[in-house]
Amino acid sequence: MFENLSERLGGVFDRLTKQGALSEEDVATALREVRVALLEADVSLPVARDFVKAVQEKATGQAVTKSITPGQQVVKIVHDALIDVLKGEGEPGALKIDNPPAPILMVGLQGSGKTTTTAKLAKRLTDRDGKRVLMASLDVNRPAAMEQLAILGMQIGVDTLPIVKGEDPVAIAKRAKTQAGLGGYDVYMLDTAGRLHIDEELIAQAAAVRDVANPRETLLVVDGLTGQDAVNVATEFDDKIGVSGVVLTRMDGDGRGGAALSMRAVTGKPIKFVGLGEKMDAIETFEPERIAGRILG
Ligand code: GDP
Repeated sequence: MFENLSERLGGVFDRLTKQGALSEEDVATALREVRVALLEADVSLPVARDFVKAVQEKATGQAVTKSITPGQQVVKIVHDALIDVLKGEGEPGALKIDNPPAPILMVGLQGSGKTTTTAKLAKRLTDRDGKRVLMASLDVNRPAAMEQLAILGMQIGVDTLPIVKGEDPVAIAKRAKTQAGLGGYDVYMLDTAGRLHIDEELIAQAAAVRDVANPRETLLVVDGLTGQDAVNVATEFDDKIGVSGVVLTRMDGDGRGGAALSMRAVTGKPIKFVGLGEKMDAIETFEPERIAGRILG
């Protein structure tokens, strides 16, 4: 995650910190290079532009060229600006799951890693937070997807709602709620159907489920490898169904990280978790401070 960007920025800042005194022109040149590095990482243009502008303003305000360690000062300003662009409200990765049974709605395109992420989060809530979790698949058009969730549930020791043939997604959501209440579960997770593209049926179905489940969290799962597309998908889902947070998957294969850097700035929605592999524990809280540290090496 972020290896390419980190390497590019490392090069820029190495040069800057090795120099003793800096002219304003040196800082301006470095910031132009930062902008190019961000764009190459597939960060959206307005975000890259605003980012560099914010850094420029702070650098001028703090008169970095006159400081004793001007290069390091610039790096520190960039570090803080990265945190600003990444952070959402409250604790990283926090989920509103008080008031049991708390419904979590999982939405996203087919192939984004939604089912895998549902199971990963269920395992995390079970193992780390000691919650009792029930998972239910609502993907009635793809019986294999429903089976997949049941199999993952067995692997990780998390209950899944038994599959009843012919039931529609809204009926499944209602049954999950009843079962979660009767069974004393803390959380129930609804894995909605995905499609290859955002279409009316997908949105109508997710909205119908949202309206009966009244989810405490609606988590959008998007493939981080798709860069700016991931941000566009998030914008559309948020407009049409409303999401409370984003899970970016396949970040283990993403050396650029553009989606991660643009997501909150463009959509206003925080990234809560990142998927870092196919294994059930390959999920991490998205922590802006740690990420900024990782990017700047
Ligand atoms: P869905 O159609 O959105 O439910 O997608 P799936 O959960 O079935 O995932 C599709 C594929 O992506 C599976 O092979 C998963 O193992 C894989 N996958 C999911 N998340 C990640 C991730 O964070 N990293 C990697 N490398 N693969 C992932």
